[in-house]
Amino acid sequence: MKVGYPRAVHYYDYFPFWAGFFRGLDLELITSPLTNRQVLEQGLKKASDETCLPIKLLVGHIQALSGMGVDALFLPRMVSVEEKTYLCPKLLGLPESVFASVPEGMGVLTLDFNMRQGKRRVIRTLEEFAEGLGKTGAEARQGFLLAQNWQEHYESRRHEGRSFGESMGEFDPRLAGEAGRTIRFDNPDRDESAAVLTVALVGHPYLTQDNYANLNLVAKLGERAHVRFIEEMEPQGIEQGLQGLHKSVFWSHARKIMGAGASYIGDEAVDGVIYLSCFGCGTDSMTQDMVARIARQQHKPYMVLTLDEHSGEAGLVTRLEAFLDMTERRVQRESNFSAHG
Ligand code: SF4
Repeated sequence: MKVGYPRAVHYYDYFPFWAGFFRGLDLELITSPLTNRQVLEQGLKKASDETCLPIKLLVGHIQALSGMGVDALFLPRMVSVEEKTYLCPKLLGLPESVFASVPEGMGVLTLDFNMRQGKRRVIRTLEEFAEGLGKTGAEARQGFLLAQNWQEHYESRRHEGRSFGESMGEFDPRLAGEAGRTIRFDNPDRDESAAVLTVALVGHPYLTQDNYANLNLVAKLGERAHVRFIEEMEPQGIEQGLQGLHKSVFWSHARKIMGAGASYIGDEAVDGVIYLSCFGCGTDSMTQDMVARIARQQHKPYMVLTLDEHSGEAGLVTRLEAFLDMTERRVQRESNFSAHG
């Protein structure tokens, strides 16, 4: 049985987990290609106009899998991945919200992954899922252990500062090869010593790490700055960034973005922060303003870039260069002048 896994939304966070689980079941997950024009166009054609860009891309990736001979698509409903948080409502609506766009004849395998119900319940869900595929409970438990190991390994690589391509490439061997052929991934040619700035790029991983969706922003930014990501930050750094809040943020991504964004703003080694958002994102509408307020209080250069399917590269480059010029002038010259008057 060939099981397809769309390279969209959850892929950028949890693919190592699911690749490990399916390996434990002795099944291989086949990923869709990197996002490209055709994927985007198919997504726009088949997805609801009302939804956000990442869900449109997900629908495009599902179409791409149909041409790869997969028997079924794996699309879990990730309800909660850590204590006291949920994923965003659009992600909770999967897979039902995209059923209409699933190509005819392609089955959909799904399960509810909800850590709020406790580990024991999660393991039971995985056992039931595995039994539905003709596997045993022991194989499911074995898969769960492997899944946890792979996910922890991936996250520790990211915390060490390894790039997304390098870290994910260990679990998705097709990634490194494809990325090398199509686009400059993580900007491997850049001359690190030439960059005078350090800029943190905060946002959902399916935007910051998908180079087609973000119009190759990381490579462009990397030509003039050391780029820091939220995935590099250890959980303590995120907690520290959240400390000043009166209420806890209960959407997982928003929580990470908020905590990492605030920590980067308070970090003297970081010269500026860019928030990469997308049109139609409910949680971003709140967090980008909260991060902006902290940046204003601490006088840190801050910019929001909002993407949608109509975003053009020229507009992005203009805004990026203006931001980097301003930040560079500030870093190099500000202390030469009196701020008074
Ligand atoms: S968090 Fe925002 S961008 Fe992500 S799926 Fe939800 S609405 Fe879309």
